[in-house]
Amino acid sequence: MRKPFVAGNWKMHGSKASILSLVTGLNAQADQLGNVDVAVCPPAIYIDYVKRSLSSNAISVGAQNVAAEPVQGAFTGEISVEMLKDFACDYVILGHSERRAIYGETDAEVAQKVKVALTANITPILCVGETLEERESGVMESVIASQLDAVLDVVGIDSFADIVIAYEPIWAIGTGVTASPAQAQDVHEFIRGKLAGLNSAIAEKVIIQYGGSVKPDNAKELFGQADIDGGLIGGASLNADDFIAICKAA
Ligand code: 13P
Repeated sequence: MRKPFVAGNWKMHGSKASILSLVTGLNAQADQLGNVDVAVCPPAIYIDYVKRSLSSNAISVGAQNVAAEPVQGAFTGEISVEMLKDFACDYVILGHSERRAIYGETDAEVAQKVKVALTANITPILCVGETLEERESGVMESVIASQLDAVLDVVGIDSFADIVIAYEPIWAIGTGVTASPAQAQDVHEFIRGKLAGLNSAIAEKVIIQYGGSVKPDNAKELFGQADIDGGLIGGASLNADDFIAICKAA
């Protein structure tokens, strides 16, 4: 039985004041979480602030990106995996569609970042997903397969024991249009099936989150699907009550 995992991707949102109020709200309800792993991923500059403000160890902290270079050096503006480790980050979101689309991250760069995170024992949350055009033109599965293959080629199937996958259909991110539970389940089943072709025990264990307009009122049905093991939450993770309600639905 897989333990569900819900993570909040705060993206580039917040201030010291708003984050303190959000974390205070999370602290007040953290004891209600139950049998679910939970993490929040603030902008990097706030990671330490969040870590120190959280009063419950039921909520872990993750980053939204990491440098592909394995060690510190002359890489202006980058944050190394050892630096994330230094601040006790447990997770790092990698290959989010916003990083791929806006910052031009390639499958190969994402794979390299996954490798670097694994080396430091930080769990990558590897995002995959298709555009609406790719879905409608029938290439959705091949797009997702190649996003996975790029990582499989670099780290191998055994490493997927330590990787979380987040399926995020790009057309559902921040749009209010959620994939239907059946649409999401189909893709989750495809992903698990692809991994099962390589190693069925690992495929059975790997956590596959759904992300894209998850809200308190649709979380239960999404998380109730056989291959959906929790969610990666954007907008709704910026409200403590909504985020806790989503976690409790997992
Ligand atoms: P929304 O929940 O705001 O649609 O964002 C999803 C997402 O991109 C999480 O990484």
